[in-house]
Amino acid sequence: MRLIILGGGASGMAAAIEAGRTNTDIDIVIAERLERTGKKILATGNGRCNFSNMGTDIDNYYGHNRYFAENCLKRFTVNDTVNFFNQLGVFPKEEENGKLYPFSGQASAVSDCLRNEISRLGIEVVTGFYASAVSKSKKGFKLEAKDGRVLYADRLIIAGGGCASPALGSDGSCFALLKSLGHRISKLAPALVQIKTDPKEVKSLQGIKFNGTVKLIHNDRYIAEEEGEILFTDYGISGPPIFRLSARLPFKSNMAISLDFMPEYTPKEVFDILEYRRESLSHLTMEGYFTGLVNKRIGNLIARRAGIEKLSFKVSSLDRAMLWSIASLIKDYRLEITGTKGFNNAQVTAGGVLTEDFDDKTMESKIIKGLYACGEVLDIYGDCGGYNLQWAWSSGRLAGMSAAENMK
Ligand SMILES: Cc1cc2nc3c(=O)[nH]c(=O)nc-3n(C[C@H](O)[C@H](O)[C@H](O)COP(=O)(O)OP(=O)(O)OC[C@H]3O[C@@H](n4cnc5c(N)ncnc54)[C@H](O)[C@@H]3O)c2cc1C
Repeated sequence: MRLIILGGGASGMAAAIEAGRTNTDIDIVIAERLERTGKKILATGNGRCNFSNMGTDIDNYYGHNRYFAENCLKRFTVNDTVNFFNQLGVFPKEEENGKLYPFSGQASAVSDCLRNEISRLGIEVVTGFYASAVSKSKKGFKLEAKDGRVLYADRLIIAGGGCASPALGSDGSCFALLKSLGHRISKLAPALVQIKTDPKEVKSLQGIKFNGTVKLIHNDRYIAEEEGEILFTDYGISGPPIFRLSARLPFKSNMAISLDFMPEYTPKEVFDILEYRRESLSHLTMEGYFTGLVNKRIGNLIARRAGIEKLSFKVSSLDRAMLWSIASLIKDYRLEITGTKGFNNAQVTAGGVLTEDFDDKTMESKIIKGLYACGEVLDIYGDCGGYNLQWAWSSGRLAGMSAAENMK
């Protein structure tokens, strides 16, 4: 009896290990399109692999039915992940907001230890196998690769990821395979990605970094807020808070961001500071008014939005209405969101194979018996902070265990 796992990424490697541990009487093969398994893992967490999060909760996940993930996350919890990796040699380190990393600070530790275990369990790895067609007959599954190679299996786990960062292997090809077997695919969108705004608005700010608060606005209502280092770029804004907020972007229109350049102060306190500066800097023009308060280029933009066109405008001429206008812009500088940097730059895919077509207790398809799916190919993704890899480990291990038990 043979089990094939299509995709040797995070969820596929976890599925293979769990299957190998559950049933030692079956042949297990990982079929991977790249020349080696686990390539994306090396890029995770800026090369440090934020492999899970102590605070993992169902509210950190998104999808048409996020509750599909609940059973799986309860069956293979964060503590199970910590024990799993600790046993394989990866000693955990908890950092801010519950983020877990290998103590060595190297993402390669995670992929190496998975590879070592795969080899110990005698699991075969077929690389350079780019699956382009799949079919099911009474005899089982037939997988065809672009180069003409064919693999046969009694059970199949599809762990091919989504469309995010295709250079790291996942190019969306597994959606087409699952669709060809009758599964429904929801709308797809990049998530955990840089945000584009009107380039005219941010062009003059390119390269500026500041610590502040950023809010996401949908139809004029605040829906999420993050703080940290924000970076202006030629296309819009980036930085950790922007990545975190971008989890909430997919499938919504009429979105904007609101930047708070002085989050430590209330609007009234900012007004008082501005009023004090009008007195103490009354000898200056607007050219010098913001120096030492906010970045000068940001200040110039704010002044222009407040209706002060010329930098030669005298500080002493600022009236109360102007000061209030500047104070509100410092606290709530709006930029309309025009898009994202797309799948090439995204960390995850929002959307995927509809979970309604799968059993949450086993990860088996309700349409094709003996077929399983796990990881990002399913319509589940998580917040930034280790939640996506936790989903990959939990769903991969559940799919591997169920498929292998089913073959006993
Ligand atoms: C730059 C970056 C940083 C990230 N950092 C983090 C982080 O720190 N923490 C976190 O939790 N998440 C992070 N993520 C997200 C996380 O890496 C993914 O959610 C996770 O890897 C998904 O696992 P997966 O097994 O479903 O898919 P993948 O890891 O994408 O693996 C899919 C595998 O299938 C193979 N494949 C695809 N199609 C085929 C085919 N047709 N035939 C054969 N093989 C195929 C691919 O080559 C790939 O190896 C990051 C993502 C990126 C891009």
